[in-house]
Amino acid sequence: MVKMTRSKTFQAYLPSCHRTYSCIHCRAHLANHDELISKSFQGSQGRAYLFNSVVNVGCGPAEERVLLTGLHAVADIYCENCKTTLGWKYGSVCSWHPVTSRESKPL
Ligand SMILES: [Zn+2]
Repeated sequence: MVKMTRSKTFQAYLPSCHRTYSCIHCRAHLANHDELISKSFQGSQGRAYLFNSVVNVGCGPAEERVLLTGLHAVADIYCENCKTTLGWKYGSVCSWHPVTSRESKPL
């Protein structure tokens, strides 16, 4: 029998000298402001953030979904730390709703 233990430590930290986006629940860092593609992307459930690359984000199995631009392999993404569903990703682009993250500015 294998006992699974999971560290509660965030897997990655982003430099605090940049604006960052964190999980609204556990404050794990999710993305650097520099990776933000768009803040006004219109998804099927309203406005969403689009990011080039993210950290501390897990990815579910990809499935084929029909989007506005055609058929894409889309996977759900979630916070690796607290397992909150954030949104989805297709290709290397991640998207989530503004309410699931908080923006931090450098001190
Ligand atoms: Zn979280």
